[in-house]
Amino acid sequence: MGYSDAYVDNMTVVYSTLLSDPQTTCKIVSGPDQLCACFPADGEYHCEDRNVAERDALILQRLGLTPGQLVTWEDILARVARSLQPDDLLEICSTCPWLEYGVCQEGVQKVVSGQTLPVVRPKVYGVDVDAETRCKHYHSPVDIIALKFGCCERYYPCYECHLEVADHQPEPWPKSRFDEPAVLCGACGHELTVHEYKNCESRCPTCGAAFNPGCQLHHSLYFES
Ligand code: SF4
Ligand SMILES: [Zn+2]
Ligand SMILES: [Zn+2]
Ligand SMILES: [Zn+2]
Repeated sequence: MGYSDAYVDNMTVVYSTLLSDPQTTCKIVSGPDQLCACFPADGEYHCEDRNVAERDALILQRLGLTPGQLVTWEDILARVARSLQPDDLLEICSTCPWLEYGVCQEGVQKVVSGQTLPVVRPKVYGVDVDAETRCKHYHSPVDIIALKFGCCERYYPCYECHLEVADHQPEPWPKSRFDEPAVLCGACGHELTVHEYKNCESRCPTCGAAFNPGCQLHHSLYFES
């Protein structure tokens, strides 16, 4: 859809936070929000266009919300389920260029029918990265993890991928954050904390997929010691 990496990273963090903790408090705003903060500088800025404000006003009125209000994400989902149907977006969002992709209608449909919203896998950077995070350098059946680097908080399948693609030197994930997700299972998309990964005996605790036990030889490249 033409988003920049920084925009996608930020959107993934916001979305994942809301999914993992529905009690997250959200502040209702009209106009540019936390996602717009990462709108690419070279893109044609549209976040303050009049039709954006008009769409915001329509949807807030429909959900019974007002700018400045603090509500939990769970509350917002309940309001969507009560007050909105997917086809309502055809009118409310008629001036939005993203409407035609159908993603927003799909999301509303899921909320209305009580399904959980899909988990988005974080983007994995690197060279020749496949759907299970194998890369140009490591591509055996068991090379299915990606690791988050401390320098850029981005996932790469391996150290060499970071060297080839990033514009800075790689730094391992900091010890003080070993209780945060920093290892991605390429098979199921589960994100393991470093503690979880170090105790997993080379198997994903969620889907059981086998990880390459040889990766342990390189831990110092990925995890601060
Ligand atoms: S179509 Fe989607 S992105 Fe566009 S205004 Fe509606 S909800 Fe927002
Ligand atoms: Zn980096
Ligand atoms: Zn690689
Ligand atoms: Zn898994």
